[in-house]
Amino acid sequence: MGLNRFEYIEASSIPEASRFLADRPEEARIYAGGTSLLLLMKQRIARPAYLVNIKKIPGLRYIDKNDGTVRIGALTTHHDLEFSPLIRRWLPVISELEPEVANIRVRSTGTIGGNLGFAEPLTDLPPVLIAMDARIKVADESLERLLPLEHLFRGYYETSLRPQELITEIQVDLPAPFFGIKYLRFSMGSDKPLVGCAVGIRIDPESKLCVDARCVLGCVGPTPLRVREAEEALKGLPYRVNSSAKAARIAATACSPLTDLRATEEYKRAIVEVLMRRAVEEAFRRASSKLQG
Ligand SMILES: Cc1cc2nc3c(=O)[nH]c(=O)nc-3n(C[C@H](O)[C@H](O)[C@H](O)COP(=O)(O)OP(=O)(O)OC[C@H]3O[C@@H](n4cnc5c(N)ncnc54)[C@H](O)[C@@H]3O)c2cc1C
Repeated sequence: MGLNRFEYIEASSIPEASRFLADRPEEARIYAGGTSLLLLMKQRIARPAYLVNIKKIPGLRYIDKNDGTVRIGALTTHHDLEFSPLIRRWLPVISELEPEVANIRVRSTGTIGGNLGFAEPLTDLPPVLIAMDARIKVADESLERLLPLEHLFRGYYETSLRPQELITEIQVDLPAPFFGIKYLRFSMGSDKPLVGCAVGIRIDPESKLCVDARCVLGCVGPTPLRVREAEEALKGLPYRVNSSAKAARIAATACSPLTDLRATEEYKRAIVEVLMRRAVEEAFRRASSKLQG
C-alpha cells in the first residue's frame, strides 16, 4: 500500500516547527527518524497532510552531563544511546537494554524523542526512564516547560503534549548512592517487547532496608504503569523472596494486558509476575553491591 500525498516541510528551528504545527494541528505531524510514523502511513492508519521534518534542527542531538543530570537531546538515536560512553558510565541500564530494541535499522535512525512522543505502548524506554524519575523538556514557539515523563502518556498513542509542542530534551538525574535498577523485557521473536518491567530500589546503607522503590511496567496497558502498591510492599524491608513475590503478585493484578495475536491476557500477567520478581531481586543486588564502594 502506498503513502498518501503529503507536503514535506524541513524546519530549521524549534519556533519554526512549532508555528507550523500550531497552524495545522489536525493535519501536520512531526517527522524525526520516521521509523514509526512511516509504518503507520504505509498502512494508511495515519494520513497527515504535512510532515514537519525536525531532523535538520541544529542542537537537538547530544548526550551531556552537568549539575548531576544527564541531558539527552530529542534527536539522539537509539544507536547513540547504545554506544555512548557517558550513558554506559552513568545510566548503564539504558546501554544494557538498547541492543534489544527493534533492529539495527530502527536503532540507527529512530530517536528518543520519537520513541516517547509516539506513545506506543510496546516500547522499552518509557518504563526505565520513569523508574529513574526522568523529566522531559517541552518547547513551543516561545515557551519551554519541564514535565515529569510519567505525565506525558495519556493513552494508546496519546500524549499530554499540545499540538504545537515538541520534546526537546530528556533529563535524568544521576542515580542516588545505593540505588540499583534492573529492566527486564520478554519478547517472542518479534522486535517489540511483549512485557517490560523496570524496578529501581534505593537502600539505606546501614540497615540495608529499602527506603524507596519504583516498579514500572510497560506493554501491559495503554500507558506505562507505575505500580505504587508494589513499591509500598517493598519499602522498609530488606530483600526477601516473600516480599518480592508479593510485589510481583500485586503488579500482575494491577496491569491490564490485552489478549492479542502474540499472547493471552493470562500469559502476559504470568510473565509480569516472573519479570517483576527477578527485577526486584536484581535491583536489590545492584543497590547492595554499591555498599562495598
Ligand atoms: C519494527 C520496529 C520495532 C520496534 N521495536 C522497539 C522495541 O523493541 N523497543 C522500543 O522501545 N521501541 C521499539 N520501536 C519503536 C522505536 O523506538 C521508534 O520507532 C523510534 O524511536 C521512533 O523514533 P523516530 O524518530 O523514528 O520517530 P518518528 O517515526 O519520526 O515519529 C513518530 C511520532 O513521534 C512523535 N515525535 C517524534 N519526535 C518528536 C518530538 N521531538 N517531540 C514530540 N513528538 C515527537 C510524532 O508524533 C511523530 O509523528 C520499534 C519500531 C519499529 C518500527
